[in-house]
Amino acid sequence: MGSSGSYDSYRGRSDLYSGYARTYEPPKRSSSFDDRSDEERRREAEEERLEREKVERERTAAGAAHKREVEESRKRLRDNPNPPPPPKSRIAAEEVKYDRSLVRLGISKPDDQVQGLVYLLIDNSASNDIIRTHVRNTVSYILGTMGAICPGYQVVFDFVSDHYDGSGHMQEIDYVYPTEDGVNGLVSSIAHVHDMDGGDYPECFACPLDRISRLDFGNVPKEKRHVIVVTDSIPHGFGYRGDDECTAGLDWGTVMQKVQETFATFQVIGCAKEDQRVIMDLSTVKSEEHRKALVTNAILFFMARNRGRQTVEGFLAGWYAKMLREPIFGQQTDHNAQNVIEMMVEFIEASREDLDALLDRILVREVEKK
Ligand SMILES: [Zn+2]
Repeated sequence: MGSSGSYDSYRGRSDLYSGYARTYEPPKRSSSFDDRSDEERRREAEEERLEREKVERERTAAGAAHKREVEESRKRLRDNPNPPPPPKSRIAAEEVKYDRSLVRLGISKPDDQVQGLVYLLIDNSASNDIIRTHVRNTVSYILGTMGAICPGYQVVFDFVSDHYDGSGHMQEIDYVYPTEDGVNGLVSSIAHVHDMDGGDYPECFACPLDRISRLDFGNVPKEKRHVIVVTDSIPHGFGYRGDDECTAGLDWGTVMQKVQETFATFQVIGCAKEDQRVIMDLSTVKSEEHRKALVTNAILFFMARNRGRQTVEGFLAGWYAKMLREPIFGQQTDHNAQNVIEMMVEFIEASREDLDALLDRILVREVEKK
C-alpha cells in the first residue's frame, strides 16, 4: 500500500474525492446574442446530457466504492476486535530531503495560474507545542490531501507567536502548491522555523492578519481567498479579553473588518479549554493523540468545505474510511470515528435533513429503502 505517510498515498485518494467532488456545471454562454444554429444547439444539448450522466456515474461509483471499503473495514474490525495499532505515519521531515535551494521564507506573490489561496496561521507558542509539532510533521498528509480537494490552490504557512518573540513573531513560508515539489519546499522551509516560547505573553494574531490582508493577491478574487487559524488560546489577541495584546497598537475590530473585506472565509480551529467563541473547539477531545489527528483533518475539512458540499462530503467519506482502515482506538474505532464525523458535519451549512442524508452516506448507515 506504499508508505502510510507519503504524499502519493494521500494524493492517491483523489479518485474518491474527485468522484464526489464532480458536479455538473452547464457551460456559460452569453445570452445576449446567440447565433448558434438549431443543429449546434441540439449537439450542445446532447453533449451536456452526456457530461451530466458521466458526472452522475462517477459520483455513484465513488459512493459504491466508499460503501464497499467501509463494510470491509468493519468486517476486519469485527473479526479482529483488538487490531494492532497502525504503523506510525512516517514523518515528512524524515522522508523528504532538506534542500537549501527550496527554502522560501516570507510571503511574496501568488503564482499567476493559481486557482485560490489559503493562509494557514499556526500558533507557534510553547503552549501549543503538541499541535504545532504535529502540523509540522504532517506536511505530506496536509498537502497530499489538499492536492486532491483543492488542486491548483496555493497555501502559505505562517507560524505565529507574540511580540515578545521579536522577529520570531511571524515566521512565514511562501506560497506552495499542494504537489510533491510543494512538500519538498515546505519541509525544507519549515526546518528554518523556530519554536517560540512566548513566555506568558499572549500570541498576537492581529498583526499577521493585518499583514496578510494587505498582500498582493495577483489574479485571485476575494471569493477564492481563505484564512484558517489554528491555536490553543483563542482569547489571546482576539480582542475580547482586554485589548492590550498587540503592542504594535492594532485595534482588533479594525483588523477583523479588514479581514472580512479581504477574504471569503475566516475559520478558527481552537483547542482552548474555556473559550466559547471558537469556531471549532477540539478541547473536549481528551486523547492527545486523537486531538492531534483532528487538528490536521480539521484544517483539511475547512479547505474542503470552502470548495463546496460535494468536496466536503468526499473528504469526510475519505477520512472516515481512513480512520476505519487505520484503527487507533481498537474496538472503539468505529464509534469514535462516527462521533468525529458527526461533529464535523455540524459545521456544514445545510438543513438537518440534508445533513442526516449526508451522514447516512458517509457513515454507510442502514437506510430503510422505500
Ligand atoms: Zn500585534
